[in-house]
Amino acid sequence: MGGVPTVRTTCPSCDTVLIDAGALTVRRRPDATQSECSFVCPDCVQTVVQPVSDKMVPVLIGAGCLVEDWGVSDARSLHPSGGGITEAEIQDFVASLDNDDWFGELLS
Ligand SMILES: [Zn+2]
Repeated sequence: MGGVPTVRTTCPSCDTVLIDAGALTVRRRPDATQSECSFVCPDCVQTVVQPVSDKMVPVLIGAGCLVEDWGVSDARSLHPSGGGITEAEIQDFVASLDNDDWFGELLS
């Protein structure tokens, strides 16, 4: 093994995909039980948001995924631990959060 850890997850379009841990963001919700992870599918370049069980959160963090805490102000809550995300991508992501319809767009 060695090298960058990969996370096995699923894309709604491509089924099972492998994501570099550093390219996956875990969003923890301190006020709720359900956390989420988001990533850009390497096959269809679509942003995918998946629910993550609380048991999986420390596993993903241990693998080197980025962590974002909901309820803390957006970009400053990102803790890049493995690289893989650029400032421009963060800006795009923050901009998408300002759009009330962002979640619906991801699902469409
Ligand atoms: Zn895909």
